[in-house]
Amino acid sequence: TVRTRIAPSPTGDPHVGTAYIALFNLCFARQHGGEFILRIEDTDQARSTTESEQMILDSLRWLGLEWDEGPDVGGQYGPYRQSERGESYAEHARQLLDAGHAFKCYRTSEELDALRESRKAEGLHLALKPEDLALPVEEEARRAREGWPYVIRMKVPEEGACVVQDMLRGAIEVDWAQVDAQILLKSDGMPTYHLANVVDDHLMGITHVLRGEEWINSAPKHQLLYEYFGWDMPELCHMPLLRNPDKSKLSKRKNPTSINYYRRMGYLPQAVTNYLGRMGWSMPDDREKFSLGEMMSHFDIQRISLGGPVFDLDKLTWLNGVYIREDLDDDGLLQALREWAFNEDYVKQILPQVRPRVDTLSEVTPLAGHFFSGLPPIDESSFETVKLEHETLIKLLQFLVWRLEGVTAWHKETLLEEVKALADAFELKMKIFLAPVFIAVTGSPTSTSVLDAMTILGSDMTRARLRHAIA
Ligand code: ATP
Ligand code: GLU
Repeated sequence: TVRTRIAPSPTGDPHVGTAYIALFNLCFARQHGGEFILRIEDTDQARSTTESEQMILDSLRWLGLEWDEGPDVGGQYGPYRQSERGESYAEHARQLLDAGHAFKCYRTSEELDALRESRKAEGLHLALKPEDLALPVEEEARRAREGWPYVIRMKVPEEGACVVQDMLRGAIEVDWAQVDAQILLKSDGMPTYHLANVVDDHLMGITHVLRGEEWINSAPKHQLLYEYFGWDMPELCHMPLLRNPDKSKLSKRKNPTSINYYRRMGYLPQAVTNYLGRMGWSMPDDREKFSLGEMMSHFDIQRISLGGPVFDLDKLTWLNGVYIREDLDDDGLLQALREWAFNEDYVKQILPQVRPRVDTLSEVTPLAGHFFSGLPPIDESSFETVKLEHETLIKLLQFLVWRLEGVTAWHKETLLEEVKALADAFELKMKIFLAPVFIAVTGSPTSTSVLDAMTILGSDMTRARLRHAIA
């Protein structure tokens, strides 16, 4: 049976790119009556968080992209979280070591830097080969004896070319000279992406790997690992990356990339999924509107076009409107509104903000309207009441956006710390500093507390509004 997978690393917001790749893996599996698996690649312990994992699962499920096996639903190939599969990687690294396909490397990071520098100076490829990394025999023995930390690296050929087959691109040739002796197991015993990914794809019976084209350069290493282990390699398909309208790689600097943003903005999941299905792919009859079920039954991987698909917000918004008008009757729209924001969970977060500030119930909506809206209309005159130069307040908002991009735990206390630190850097009192932030986030100079608003609106909507205010 065909088995495909999506293998997200839980290191940040749930990315639309992850949903896009998941969608194509799901459709490919379903078209062949196969299975679609979700595996969490959390070997980077410093950057992986359970919040991020939860958001990724929630977002994919919201989009209707259901998996047959995964960390939350189980399955016979589990565990489905790499952090819970540790022993297997170390054991496989040892196997390669014993077979002479891998070696221990005691080089320090200073030595590695120096090696790279000297290769650069000589105009050589930057890839480090086993020969470059080798130490004099006695030195190596001394380091081993003294218990220096070491990594396990794979051996790679010195010269010649490696040919990797891609389902869409055909034969891809890469010179071995460009491929370095990849680290497989780090000095703390944790595997790198390459080792963990290959071992798990094999052990989980994955037959086809559809992934972003940013991984093409890793394919030769993976192919070699499969050879070393004596395993069949899954078929590979490298998907074109999503692009900004200016054709650069889709990035949060230019376009919201988090699925949470689209959800908060009130896009319908079926419209987002439909739009992602149009990224580089089309229905045989070219229609723009189709359901996930229709995409599955008409799926054909050869219809993927490799030219970078542009993720265009205006087109998505248009398609979303079509869904609202054509697919939702009044009951359907009511249901969608409930799922979006008109529900107890969300409204209850807002009540403590409005209670102290209203005398009649009819004042609630004008006061709290921004909790139910997208990007408020803002121009220079919106900041009239702020006692700061316009240039200064724009700079301040820009710095805040940058700072907030680094916030992984979105809580009021964390936000307060960030804002305080930045206010100090600008040598401004908190009250003065927050005035333009208030307007950018809530759309008006009189509303609910801005830090609470940011907390409730979440990181994506907050950052989008700040960016929108300075655009
Ligand atoms: P940004 O540039 O917005 O910071 P990023 O490249 O840092 O994005 P990551 O956090 O590295 O994003 O990626 C998260 C997931 O999203 C990865 O699985 C990655 O393959 C996927 N991804 C990122 N950018 C794109 C893209 N342009 N098209 C398709 N998938 C993408
Ligand atoms: N963990 C990798 C990612 O986040 C998986 C890449 C792959 O599919 O091999 O993109």
